Amino acid sequence: MKNEVVGQFQDKVSELLVRHRSILDSLTKFQESSARVNRSIAKTVTNCGCLSVSASKQTCPPEIDLINYQQYMESHLKGDLCEHCLERIMEELGNHIFYLTALCDLLNLELTEVFDKEFERINTLGLFNLS
Ligand SMILES: [Zn+2]
Repeated sequence: MKNEVVGQFQDKVSELLVRHRSILDSLTKFQESSARVNRSIAKTVTNCGCLSVSASKQTCPPEIDLINYQQYMESHLKGDLCEHCLERIMEELGNHIFYLTALCDLLNLELTEVFDKEFERINTLGLFNLS
């Protein structure tokens, strides 16, 4: 069911890919949209103030196993997204997904297959997938 939406999304992106049909344009738009996602998140702290960052070295007792490790790790974020910032970040993430999908389309890859393979990979590797 969810893969259907992803497939329909890719079909629509393919249909709309007119100006950025070149792989070079899509690659650079993908990179630009990634930077815009980062900037919109940074602006929640530096411009709006709905979030703040309080970071320090992550520490965990050495005897803790990987399963319980997560409870000792922090996001370093304080606060909650306001409606404006939430809207802005969602918009930038959507734009980023558009160009991710465009890259898949230009390379004749099915985004649903990318999702499926990654899901299978993280399911198989579990907690050991991140390094
Ligand atoms: Zn905000």
